[in-house]
Amino acid sequence: MTRKILVTSALPYANGAIHLGHLVEYIQTDIWVRFQKMRGNTCHYVCADDTHGTPIMLRAEKEGITPEQLIARVWQEHHDDFAAFHVAFDNYGSTNSNETKEFAQGIYRTLKAEDLIEVRSIEQFYDPVKNLFLPDRFIKGECPKCHAKDQYGDNCEVCGAAYAPTELIAPYSAVSGAKPELRSSDHYFFKLSDQRCQAFLRQWTKSGSLQPEAANKMQEWLGAEGESKLTDWDISRDAPYFGFEIPDAPGKYFYVWLDAPVGYMGSFKQLCAKQGIAFDDYWGPDSDAELYHFIGKDILYFHALFWPAMLRHAGYRTPTKLFAHGFLTVNGAKMSKSRGTFITAASYLKRLNPEWLRYYYAAKLNGSMEDIDLSLDDFIAKVNSDLIGKYVNIASRCAGFIGKRFAGKLGSVDATATAEFETTYKAGEIALSFENRDYGRALREIMRLADVANLYIAANKPWEMAKQEGRETDLHTVCSTALTLFRDLTLYLKPVLPKLAEQVEAFLNIPALAWTDDWSPLAAGHAINEYQHLMTRIEPKQVDAMVEENRQSLEPTPTPAPTRHAEHQQHEATTDEVKTATPDYITIDDFAKVDLRIARIISANHVEGADKLLRLELDIGEAKPRQVFAGIKSAYDPATLVGRMTVMVTNLAPRKMKFGLSEGMVLAASGDAPGLFILSPDAGAQPGMKVK
Ligand SMILES: [Zn+2]
Repeated sequence: MTRKILVTSALPYANGAIHLGHLVEYIQTDIWVRFQKMRGNTCHYVCADDTHGTPIMLRAEKEGITPEQLIARVWQEHHDDFAAFHVAFDNYGSTNSNETKEFAQGIYRTLKAEDLIEVRSIEQFYDPVKNLFLPDRFIKGECPKCHAKDQYGDNCEVCGAAYAPTELIAPYSAVSGAKPELRSSDHYFFKLSDQRCQAFLRQWTKSGSLQPEAANKMQEWLGAEGESKLTDWDISRDAPYFGFEIPDAPGKYFYVWLDAPVGYMGSFKQLCAKQGIAFDDYWGPDSDAELYHFIGKDILYFHALFWPAMLRHAGYRTPTKLFAHGFLTVNGAKMSKSRGTFITAASYLKRLNPEWLRYYYAAKLNGSMEDIDLSLDDFIAKVNSDLIGKYVNIASRCAGFIGKRFAGKLGSVDATATAEFETTYKAGEIALSFENRDYGRALREIMRLADVANLYIAANKPWEMAKQEGRETDLHTVCSTALTLFRDLTLYLKPVLPKLAEQVEAFLNIPALAWTDDWSPLAAGHAINEYQHLMTRIEPKQVDAMVEENRQSLEPTPTPAPTRHAEHQQHEATTDEVKTATPDYITIDDFAKVDLRIARIISANHVEGADKLLRLELDIGEAKPRQVFAGIKSAYDPATLVGRMTVMVTNLAPRKMKFGLSEGMVLAASGDAPGLFILSPDAGAQPGMKVK
C-alpha cells in the first residue's frame, strides 16, 4: 500500500551561512525522503528559512538594510547551498509568509478560546538608548558565580552556570553598551502547565512518537505522575520586533519560536497550492498520513513539548514521530573557527564533491541521538576505498570491453553470480535499514555486496579472457554480469548518491531506478552507452586547502594572533623556497635506469605482526608473480586491491625482510596530510608493459 508521508527538517535561522553541522540533518532527511519516493510512496518534503526575532532585526539595522532585504538575501544563499548538496525540498519557503502568519494567528485564537493563553506582567531588562527590551543573549555582565566578565544574560561560558539576566553583576546592553533598566510589561503565555496539556503530553510520550533517549528526556521534563514540573511558555515579545503581531494586542509580537514550527505548515500550504494537495489530508485532526520532523537534539524541548501541545489544542493532528539526531564534531572536537573546522557549505563546495560528504554522513548515521564525528582523514580514506575502490571500479573495469568488443550490447548474465544479489534484494534488509534511518548498517551491507562483485571479477579476470582466443562469450557474460551487479549497487546507493546514480542510469541506458518488489538482470542485447568517468578520488590537499581557508577567513586584519601568524609565515617561506630553488636535473639516461612496469595485483594480504605492510603478489608478465611488501595498509583494504593494475619498480635490489623477500616497489602518492594513493594506468595497459 502506498503511504502518504510529510517530512520536515528544522528551519535554519536566517542570520548565517549553512555549515557542515547543519548539513547532517538535511542530508539525513533527504536520503530518507529519496528512499521513500523510490519505494513508490507519496512523500512531501518541506522546509523554510526561520526569519523572525531580535537578532535578525539588529543585524539588518547594522547592515543598513531592511529585515526583509536581509532575509531575502540569506534565503537565496541557503536555497543555493541546499540545492548544491542535492537536498531536494518539494517546497522551501520562509516563515515570513502570509500562510505562516495565518496559521500562527489561527492557532493563537483557538488556544485563547480554549483558555490556554494568559496575560501576565513581567519585569525585564530594557535598553533605554535603543528603546527595546533585551533578549537574554543581548545582555552581558559579570557572572554571579565565578565573576568572569562579559558573560551572556542566560549562562556563563567560563563556569557553565545558568542564571536569570537579573542576577548578572553590572549588566550592560550588548547592543548599545547602556546600563539596562528593569521595566515591566504585559506578556502572553501559553499555559503548558495546564492539566490538559500535561495529561496529553504524558500520553503522547508513551505513544511511541519519540526515540527511547528522547522519551527519557521527556519523562525528566514532565516529572513523575502527579508532579507538575512544566512551566508556562512566554510567547510574546514587545515592539520593536521583527515578526507577526499578535491579534488584538497592538505592539505585541509572537516570539520567533512560536512561528518557527508553524512555518512547517505554512511551507506545506504553499506546496498544496502548487500541486493541488488537500492540506487537511496531512494536517487535519483525522489525517491518516504520516508526519515526521527531523530535528537536532538541542531543539527537542520545543518539538516534543510546546509543538504537540499547541497542535493538539488548536485542532490539528500531532506528529507521528520526531527523529532527533546528535551534533557534529570534526576530528573528534566541537567545530572550531580557529582550527578551521567550522566549515561552511560554500567553502566545502569550492573544492569537494557534495556526494562525498553525503556518503560519509550516511555511513555514520544510525538513527540514534548520538553525536557523529567527521574525521577528515577517515573521510578521505573511506570515500576513496568504498566509492572508488569498491564501487566505481566495477564499472570502470568491465564497461570498456562491452563497448569495444560487443558493440555496446550486453550478453547473457550468469545467474549463479547474481543469486546472492537477488536474494539480498528480496530479503529487504537494506530497505529496512534505510526505513529505520540506520544508513550506516545499510551501507555496510551494500559494501559487502560490492566485495562479492569484486571477487567475482577477480576470479574471472576479464582482462585475461580478453587476450585469450575463443573466450568471447565468457568475456561477454562476465562483463554483463558485473554490470548487473553494478546496477544493483547503484539502486541501493541512489538515496545517498542521487547525482551519481543519474549518471549511471544514463550510462546503462535504463529508466530511473525504483525500489520495486521485482528483481531481474539487465537483459541480453540491451545497448548501453559509452562509459564516462563517474567520480574522482579525494585528494588530501583539497581537504587541507578547505580547512586552511576556513581558518584564514578568521583573519581579516593584517595582524592576526601571534602563534597563527608565525605558523602561516613559516608555511609561506617553505613554499617560496621550493619554487625558486634551482632543481637538480637528471638526464634521460638516469631516468631509464629505473625499470617501471605495469603490474596487476593478483593477491593482497595482511602481514601478521606488521603494522603498515600488505603483502602483494604482482603479475608483471613474468612466469612467476613478484612478491612485494608495500606500506599501504593504512590506506587500503586488501580485498579492494585484488585485480587492480598499478605501477611497480622492478629493478630495485630485492630486500630481505623478516616477513620474506620483497622483490620490488609499488609506487604510491602522498602529501603532507595522511593518505596514500597507489597509481593506476588508463584502461588498456597490460601487465609487464614498460612505463617510460
Ligand atoms: Zn561563571
